[in-house]
Amino acid sequence: MASECGFGTAEIAQGRLESLLNYQTMVADLTGLPMSNASLLDEATAAAEAMAMCNGILKSKKKTFLIASNCHPQTIDVCQTRAAGFDLNVIVADAKDFDYSSGDVCGVLVQYPGTEGEVLDYAEFVKDAHAHGVKVVMATDLLALTSLRPPGEIGADIAVGSAQRFGVPMGYGGPHAAFLATSQEYKRLMPGRIIGVSVDSSGKPALRMAMQTREQHIRRDKATSNICTAQALLANMAAMYAVYHGPEGLKAIADRVHGLAGTFAQGLKKLGTVTVQELPFFDTVKVKVADANAIAQEACKNEMNLRVVDATTITVAFDETTTLEDVDKLFKVFNGGKPVNFTAESLAPEVSSSIPSSLVRKSPYLTHPIFNMYHTEHELLRYLHKLQSKDLSLCHSMIPLGSCTMKLNATVEMMPVTYPNFANMHPFAPTDQAAGYHEMFDDLGDLLCKITGFDSFSLQPNAGASGEYAGLMVIRAYHRARGDYHRDVCIIPVSAHGTNPASAAMCGMKIVAVGTDSKGNINIEELRKAAEANKDNLAALMVTYPSTHGVYEEGIDEICMIIHENGGQVYMDGANMNAQVGLTSPGFIGADVCHLNLHKTFCIPHGGGGPGMGPIGVKKHLAPFLPSHPVITTGGFPLPEKTDPLGTISAAPWGSALILPISYTYIAMMGSKGLTDASKIAILNANYMTKRLEKHYPVLFRGVNGTVAHEFIIDLRGFKTTAGIEPEDVAKRLMDYGFHAPTMSWPVPGTLMIEPTESESKAELDRFCDALISIREEIAEIESGKADVNNNVLKSAPHPPQLLMSDSWTKPYSREYAAFPAAWLRGAKFWPTTCRVDNVYGDRNLICTLQQGSQVAEEAAAATA
Ligand SMILES: *Cc1c(COP(=O)(O)O)cnc(C)c1O
Repeated sequence: MASECGFGTAEIAQGRLESLLNYQTMVADLTGLPMSNASLLDEATAAAEAMAMCNGILKSKKKTFLIASNCHPQTIDVCQTRAAGFDLNVIVADAKDFDYSSGDVCGVLVQYPGTEGEVLDYAEFVKDAHAHGVKVVMATDLLALTSLRPPGEIGADIAVGSAQRFGVPMGYGGPHAAFLATSQEYKRLMPGRIIGVSVDSSGKPALRMAMQTREQHIRRDKATSNICTAQALLANMAAMYAVYHGPEGLKAIADRVHGLAGTFAQGLKKLGTVTVQELPFFDTVKVKVADANAIAQEACKNEMNLRVVDATTITVAFDETTTLEDVDKLFKVFNGGKPVNFTAESLAPEVSSSIPSSLVRKSPYLTHPIFNMYHTEHELLRYLHKLQSKDLSLCHSMIPLGSCTMKLNATVEMMPVTYPNFANMHPFAPTDQAAGYHEMFDDLGDLLCKITGFDSFSLQPNAGASGEYAGLMVIRAYHRARGDYHRDVCIIPVSAHGTNPASAAMCGMKIVAVGTDSKGNINIEELRKAAEANKDNLAALMVTYPSTHGVYEEGIDEICMIIHENGGQVYMDGANMNAQVGLTSPGFIGADVCHLNLHKTFCIPHGGGGPGMGPIGVKKHLAPFLPSHPVITTGGFPLPEKTDPLGTISAAPWGSALILPISYTYIAMMGSKGLTDASKIAILNANYMTKRLEKHYPVLFRGVNGTVAHEFIIDLRGFKTTAGIEPEDVAKRLMDYGFHAPTMSWPVPGTLMIEPTESESKAELDRFCDALISIREEIAEIESGKADVNNNVLKSAPHPPQLLMSDSWTKPYSREYAAFPAAWLRGAKFWPTTCRVDNVYGDRNLICTLQQGSQVAEEAAAATA
């Protein structure tokens, strides 16, 4: 289970970085736009991110965003909810009727193919929008784009969509990877993670994460996106689907799907009892019928769910798993349950594509060797294994990323994810077909209420930052329901995670920063002054507990009281719940709302940057405002009698439902005593490490009794002057010892934040401490002049085999010492695969797709030769 973000540890993450670069290349090729990220949370939020981009491109000067009524209902709702915070005016209309005469339109969103299946020609539409200075966003489908003229060629500025159908199960709504692609011009405004090609210190190409985390922390309240955890694992799955099938395989799948849809339409025309939509379609056929519900019920009897659009309209969608027998069954359904006198197979020869030649794709895609050489299972298996073996994971050693809580993901917790009844459920299936899921939601909601001291939970947010946004929108809706439209000030300590101010900004809140004192605690006097000065407009405080400095803030009760006395609500960032579960709770402390990172505290693996789940818990007075959904009724667990929801924040009603069984299983197996013990051991482990390391490194913050919480910060700033050593040098040298670095330079620059979790044994804690102590001795050699300030074992770290085994060796230390500085490395050595990656070069020369003739390509070609 790869690390949280891979940022700063590219040298031990080249495998997944290559796979994510494949994803970006796949999306760029299929959409016809040169830049793609890897990835976003779902299609609806990707559309909302694109809307924010349009607003940003036009420097917030134009405040209207038009959405075509042929977009998915959940996409429209998520954009409408998101628009509120950006003070944008969303108008939903038929794209034919879009009116730009106000001069206030920043962008438009159309869907291609549309939600009811129609494939429209947007060429003239795009020209017209551009003539009015309006940016065009197109929501689209990757499989359809193997056959349809891609958005980039039509002139769209941004394309968004979901990569779900590329080999990822429905999972009752997620997790799936969404994508966002755009032109070179807007690349610096792109949200999410972007993988870039750079060089390493030996001049060889190497991959790294470009921009992302850094920019978010720098931008803070000026951020227009709060995305942190995305869907990295799912992006890898979708990329591998394209690697395996290649351009011809994908086209064959698309043709087959299109053929099945065409056969179905043909058969209905033959029946003559219903009317089939005349517009071209790819995989979804719209049918006008006398009684849509009667047909849907007949289909249900035959174990098929059809979408009822209205009383007389049904749409039928086909995919890779549909068979001719399924089409035969459908014919019978549309014939009132009576057999028909023809078969799908007999019709197939008379079916021709409904796509007009002007919309047929002519340009090639996925031409890179990577997509053309792993087309057998054995080849794919070896490619996967080759990439996997380049990456350090929890299978090798502890990953002590402070705040990220990298703990054991037990096999038994992971097993339910593969149960077909969980994996293959459509998010909009009738709820009576998902009784098991719903029993779990109820139980899990109840357990999370008990754990947090809250009254109701929403399972919709599918990452921590998405939970922050949802929670603040709940607070906003609460104030508004009381007539307090003016309450828009959000107090945030300077030590807060970068997503906090970004989320507040997305809710249209004004951010007031408060400082911390020398012990790392929130400066209570400053907070009191800020709260009192803003008491008429105070909306909320965002606070992390224990603090991001790893201490149980003594004044937390008082802090909550000050905010409440001044009319504000307390939002608690629950990323540090691993230090609270069973010992205290956000509800008990005085918070009104909090998100939980189920991918941190509750064992969902991080997947190298997602998936995650960030459900929010609230006190009773906030429960009515929890998110709803336009297609399937939902609210909180338990649902209050009266609801007044804030809107929709994810594409699926219960976010990434498929991974909820992981947390549910964990909580159910641990029980209350087990969970409490886990918190105690996590804290004990952190304090044990503090004790071992304090003789070698200054420990930055501690509570009043001299202890730390579940994580702690060691200070490396002094080594800059004594030895010219930066935190990055220590982080890279740890790789030579077989470890992933702790969180670097956050929340305090020049430091490392270490979180061991309860999952690690004393032996592993000791091994990690031994590595850090040994590195401290290496620094001492520089301090004493025994090692060179510029040319030493830290500055040149990490040391991959190609460096150590090269015929020339000019370093002032031995190869053996560089590679085997600790005894355990003799038994098992994890080898970094590149020398240190150059970030500056990568930022200056942003390359975010596979390049023909690149090293990766050459290596691939050599492998098949
Ligand atoms: C991880 C984290 C977040 C963001 O959560 P994501 O799931 O990555 O969106 C917010 N705050 C803190 C303190 C965190 O550690």
